[in-house]
Amino acid sequence: MTGDEALRQLMEGHQRYLRSQPLHQHQEAGWRATLAFSQHPFALILGCGDSRVPPEIIFDQGLGDLFVIRTAGHVPDTAVFGSIEYGLEELKIPLVMVMGHERCGAVQAAVKAMDAGESSPGYLGDLIAAIMPAVAQVKDQPGDIIDNVVRANVRLVMRKLKAHVPSLAVGIKDDRVKIVGARHDLDTGDIELLG
Ligand SMILES: [Zn+2]
Repeated sequence: MTGDEALRQLMEGHQRYLRSQPLHQHQEAGWRATLAFSQHPFALILGCGDSRVPPEIIFDQGLGDLFVIRTAGHVPDTAVFGSIEYGLEELKIPLVMVMGHERCGAVQAAVKAMDAGESSPGYLGDLIAAIMPAVAQVKDQPGDIIDNVVRANVRLVMRKLKAHVPSLAVGIKDDRVKIVGARHDLDTGDIELLG
C-alpha cells in the first residue's frame, strides 16, 4: 500500500465515523487469531493522549490497523522517535500522521505559561517547553491563539520527526513514506489535513 492509499483508507473510515456508520471491523475473535503472530498496520498516528481523540474510533479502525503513539500535545521524545523507527523499519508502515486537536490542554498550558512568563515544575514543564516554539511562532498572528498554536505545533512536530528519524526523512525522499498533519475538530468531529 502507498502512503496516499493509506491516507484514503484512513479518511474513508473517518467518513464512516462522521456519519455515525462505523463498521467496527477487525475486532472479532477470528481476526484476533489472524493477528496473533504478526501485524501489518497501514498507518502510524502520533496523537494527543486527550480522552476525546482516540484514533481507532475517529478513523473507525480495528485491531492491527493502526500503530498509535500518544503523548500530551503529541510531544515527541526519544522513545517516540524509536517507536516511529520501529514502525517504519520493521513494520514498513507507509503513512505517518501527526494529529493535533481543538482546545488541546497541553497547548492551552503552553500559551498560559507564555502569558505568565513562567513554566510548570516537573516533567510537565519539559512538555510545555517543547510546545513553546510553536507559541512563539504564531503569538502575533490574527485569529484564535490556541487554534493557531495547535496547527503550528502539528507542523513543529512533523519537522522534528523528519529531523530526528532518518528512516522517515529517507522514506519521504524515496517516496516510500508519506507524512501528513491533521487537526481534529472537537465540535464537528472533522479532520482537517495540514500540509
Ligand atoms: Zn491535547
